[in-house]
Amino acid sequence: MKTRRIFLQKASLSALALATPTFNTLSAMTESFTLPTNEPQILRVAIMGLGSYGTRVAEAIQKCTRTKLTGVISGTPSKVEDWKKKYDIPAKNCYNYENFDAVKNNPDIDAIYVITPNALHKDQVIRVAKAGKHAICEKPMAVNAEDGQAMVDACKAAGVQLLIGYRMHFEPNTLEVIRMRKAGEFGDIRFFQGLCGFVIGDPTQWRLDPVLSGGGAMMDIGIYAINGARYMIGEEPVWVTAQETKSNPEKFKEGIDETITFQFGFPSGATASCLSTYYMNYLDKFYLNGSKGWVEMKPSTGYGPIKGETHKGPLNEPIVTHQTVQMDEMAAIIFDGKKPEVPVNGEEGVKDMKIIDAIFKAVKTGEKVSLKLT
Ligand code: NAD
Repeated sequence: MKTRRIFLQKASLSALALATPTFNTLSAMTESFTLPTNEPQILRVAIMGLGSYGTRVAEAIQKCTRTKLTGVISGTPSKVEDWKKKYDIPAKNCYNYENFDAVKNNPDIDAIYVITPNALHKDQVIRVAKAGKHAICEKPMAVNAEDGQAMVDACKAAGVQLLIGYRMHFEPNTLEVIRMRKAGEFGDIRFFQGLCGFVIGDPTQWRLDPVLSGGGAMMDIGIYAINGARYMIGEEPVWVTAQETKSNPEKFKEGIDETITFQFGFPSGATASCLSTYYMNYLDKFYLNGSKGWVEMKPSTGYGPIKGETHKGPLNEPIVTHQTVQMDEMAAIIFDGKKPEVPVNGEEGVKDMKIIDAIFKAVKTGEKVSLKLT
């Protein structure tokens, strides 16, 4: 709950006291104390990385009720100028990649949302933590679990929160499926299928540079199938197997996966079969099968609307802008300690990174790799 400092204008103090002010009556006139209010606290966010997704998040924040865009961090002065005008951001809240540690002394910024190439997230989040600001970080949180854990540790040490931009964790149709699964409406869960991919264009972009991306389709889009398998089944996988194919080894160099099929086993005996690719369009589908029913979501992770059909009929939850809901929910997590239905904290991100590490290992060795996530 937010608190508000009330400065009492003790105008109704006795005329005598006002007529002959003493030290005590003067201090009483300016006495301040804290009263609780029901106004929700606004999360003041600076976006780091004003690229395509950063732009989408900035637009979505304009519709938020609990989040406000108050700053930017960018290496491109012309973009900063545009954003300053467009979103009424004061010059004192604008930083570049060299000087953003100074945000430490800026009371107008509560959190920094890191929306840069994957391999930069680790160092940037650690600097955000050291500046004493909450960190929101895009997926994948890092390029491996070790780096992800270092980010979690840094945020813990600094006493700030680390949240990962898992927008699907707040999407209404997705949450309805999770509710149905928890209520037993699908019965015992037996199988999940997650298909995630698109045909990637420009071969010179950072997503196809292993140094900046840490991997190819798996880091970018396959992570949705991994994360989805976990929240749709409601368990943590205990093993993974994986196979890789490449149609174009020149475009998809060493360290950049183009297509990987992977399979999970879960403690209950449920299994999952997933596909991550930069080689196929029209691939955005989740399917869950249980002893009493099923759900097919298509599209399942795109920007929406998310659509789905279950054995009981269509999913009809409200259509929302994912990033608007995400940011307001994150404000509630940060300020009110709200617990989301599916976690979005750093530890959740590390679990996905451990799975990605295991998938890459399974591809390399051809072996079934054990997972310990709980
Ligand atoms: P983008 O290329 O459009 O933007 C990246 C931004 O980072 C650019 O503004 C670029 O100038 C900046 N940058 C800073 N240092 C850089 C460097 N050394 N090399 C290249 N660019 C640098 O990429 P994007 O699509 O906005 O993706 C950014 C992050 O957001 C990625 O981690 C990606 O996985 C994530 N993302 C998430 C979603 C989602 O739905 N949650 C969607 C798209 C992207």
